Amino acid sequence: MTTSTRPLRVAIVGAGPAGIYAADALMKSGALVSIDLYERMPAPFGLLRYGVAPDHPRIKAIVSALHKLLDKPQVRLLGNIDVGADITLDELRSCYDAVVYATGANADRALPIPGVDLEGSYGAADFVSWYDGHPDVPRTWPLDAKKVAVLGVGNVALDVARILAKTAEELLPTEIPPNVHAGLSANQAVEVHVFGRRGPAHARFTPLELRELDHSPTIEVIVDPADLVYDEAALALRQCSKQVELICSTLEQWAAREPGERPHRLFLHFCENPVELLGDGEGRVRALRTERTRPGGAEVVAAGGDHTDWEVQAVYRAIGYLSEPVPGVPFDECAGVIPNEAGRVLAEPDSDAPEQRYLPGVYVTGWIKRGPVGLIGHTKGDASETISSLLADVDRLARPASPQPEAVIELLESKGIAFTTWSGWQQLDAYERELGAAEGRERVKVVERDVMVAVSRSSAAAGDCRASIEP
Ligand code: NAP
Repeated sequence: MTTSTRPLRVAIVGAGPAGIYAADALMKSGALVSIDLYERMPAPFGLLRYGVAPDHPRIKAIVSALHKLLDKPQVRLLGNIDVGADITLDELRSCYDAVVYATGANADRALPIPGVDLEGSYGAADFVSWYDGHPDVPRTWPLDAKKVAVLGVGNVALDVARILAKTAEELLPTEIPPNVHAGLSANQAVEVHVFGRRGPAHARFTPLELRELDHSPTIEVIVDPADLVYDEAALALRQCSKQVELICSTLEQWAAREPGERPHRLFLHFCENPVELLGDGEGRVRALRTERTRPGGAEVVAAGGDHTDWEVQAVYRAIGYLSEPVPGVPFDECAGVIPNEAGRVLAEPDSDAPEQRYLPGVYVTGWIKRGPVGLIGHTKGDASETISSLLADVDRLARPASPQPEAVIELLESKGIAFTTWSGWQQLDAYERELGAAEGRERVKVVERDVMVAVSRSSAAAGDCRASIEP
């Protein structure tokens, strides 16, 4: 082992669930480790802070478990650092035995249909970033459309539809920041239409999230019985999956009832494939055109040329996320992942020699490793596989020139980077809770990056970084 006289130094890039579970797997392995967790945001927790909807406190509560995993002497948080821009992969390699990328998937998958660039056509990831108070997106969001379409029937589509259909007052007890509450208060939407391009048995959302739609006193969920069609493959799916059965039976119950009087109507449509966004002549969305499909298993099969134009003034594309390339690391543009084998980044897949086949000392985990599917807990399995690969390689890892924990701090300071730390996060956390307490809420999120950094780096947090370094 190359590091017998010192802990194994590992940089993990991304302090979301995937990165934190990787840190945990390293700590639990029994190896002597010293981990730096790099994060582009000034605060940790990635998708939990900037992806999970504010009205999902049950999922947000995972933060408490992750908090415990991070509150360990073997791990340091280094936030507000853009790896690739502020510090390069080569610089990381000079300070660490291994680098693990856990950068997730933050962009929207492209939808190549005519009209997709019209004003009023939005990527779900951008909207989610806005309502979750991401510091790097505009503070306002246009919510003047009365009728809105949401494309896709995954959990993100349900999040977007629910946030659009709920009232601002319903969302006020959550952690939404003031600019988001103000934006939602001006929301004009009274009809939200969600479109699945295949039948109900192929919906991607989960039963709990589906049924939750019906819990809001302001949302009337409406399903057309004509949309609930199944072929043999769909019926077989329904029979062998409890989850699919629950989804289909819930939709059938909703389709069988008379619509009530709740003020906002949320329509769940199936077998409608979006084919075009129609403009109003002034560059704005005026309608969504869909083509009727019939059940065709994994395929999207046109039913015979039937098209419908749905009068909507805004379209949200919730058709899946996409990872972004990482500087200095190969990227598979088609699959949207860093090509890898069991977490080892592939450099020359045609070579059988490990030293050429893999990018030495570089690993991946989470959505950037396997694509943007699966719930938060699924990244634990990823982390355990990746960390097993890393630990199996330890004897082959090149020795870094500057493995001392102070070295990278000196490098960051010499570059003038205002990085944040774990105790900085604890200060920001306390600050957000105080803002919340003043309004009888659990937390009010701080949105501005400079305020997040200033609170995190105020005097009580300064200098904590070296103090927390394990020799
Ligand atoms: P997803 O589950 O993959 O759903 C994407 C949806 O977009 C599918 O219905 C898909 O239909 C549709 N789609 C893809 N391409 C399309 C196209 N060209 N035209 C029309 N529709 C298209 O993705 P996601 O909703 O972004 O969720 C990502 C992951 O995060 C999932 O694992 C999800 O469960 C998880 N998540 C969980 C929660 C929660 O509250 N538990 C919240 C948010 C996200 P096809 O199936 O026909 O391709």
